Amino acid sequence: MSRSAAATGDGCPCGSGRDYAQCCGPLHAGVPAASAEALMRSRYSAYALRLLPYLRESWDPSTRPALSEADLDPATRWLGLRIVAHEVDPADPDTAFVEFIARWRVAGGRAQRLHERSRFRRTGDHWRYVDGRIRASKP
Ligand SMILES: [Zn+2]
Repeated sequence: MSRSAAATGDGCPCGSGRDYAQCCGPLHAGVPAASAEALMRSRYSAYALRLLPYLRESWDPSTRPALSEADLDPATRWLGLRIVAHEVDPADPDTAFVEFIARWRVAGGRAQRLHERSRFRRTGDHWRYVDGRIRASKP
């Protein structure tokens, strides 16, 4: 890992305020996420760092798309992540929902944002992204 936060000593790309090595770094190295929220953060960081294998691995096999390098445009700059809500399904502790707003900009373009409520499922020790619903939100 030589890119971005890991190399510069800046905070973690997910915006937690912690160092990458104390935040999403261990998850990218294979440590199970303690919660769906932590997994969500690590997936945002993985987009920012363009960690294709991690994005695949953290996606539930039932919904995982055929991700390729082409899905990770190097011209994309990730601007920030805000976690709006995190809830574990009261009827099923292996299902959780994370609502978030992610912002990014493709070089030369306008800033874009995604407001989504994502569903996560835990299998064994590992939380994985299943799917999400786009939420309408003000620009
Ligand atoms: Zn992080």
